[in-house]
Amino acid sequence: MLLLVWGFKVFYKVLDTGTFFCPRCGGDRAFEHRVGKKWFRLYWIPLFPCSGPINEHVRCTTCQGMYTLQALNHPTSNQLSSLLLDGVRGVLVHVLRAGSIQSPGPREIAVSEIQAHGLPGYDDASLQADLDVVPGDISGLLTNLGGQLAGPGKEDLLRAAVRVALADGPLTDLERNVVNSTGAILGMTQAHALGVIAMTEQSAQR
Ligand SMILES: [Zn+2]
Repeated sequence: MLLLVWGFKVFYKVLDTGTFFCPRCGGDRAFEHRVGKKWFRLYWIPLFPCSGPINEHVRCTTCQGMYTLQALNHPTSNQLSSLLLDGVRGVLVHVLRAGSIQSPGPREIAVSEIQAHGLPGYDDASLQADLDVVPGDISGLLTNLGGQLAGPGKEDLLRAAVRVALADGPLTDLERNVVNSTGAILGMTQAHALGVIAMTEQSAQR
């Protein structure tokens, strides 16, 4: 008796690989961008494909979790931290330009804030280099950052800006404008930003 064994199986092809933020692992992981095709099999040997591309997805190679391609739009943790670092440097440069560009106090605070945000080797010379090159309009960067940061991250950035401005005395109107508009571009409400600014000013007076 001839036993005919046949069936279908989906085989996947890897279209691309890279690093993405895996929501299940909660961190940066390697991914495979895969697309499947259904094959006709006879005696477990795939003979010919019998479907177009199906079940295209992104798969985490660590937890095997499968996601739609939108998972690749989310920045990785590394991308987010360098975006945040660029944001902090940009905002602090703008605060310094608004008033205290040559005073050592505000420059020292700016350097230590940037060090604390992930650049331990940052010094006054790096700050001077940033002061020379950071563009006058960083709203694109801040809008992008505002879309990724949660509330506490935005508050943290504003507090750093206020601390730098306060290092040589009360906020000038110009400095206040920079901080206010930073909050607005990050997507904070005016009340939220004003609250954070006022609380940072109060805690500096103590
Ligand atoms: Zn994962």
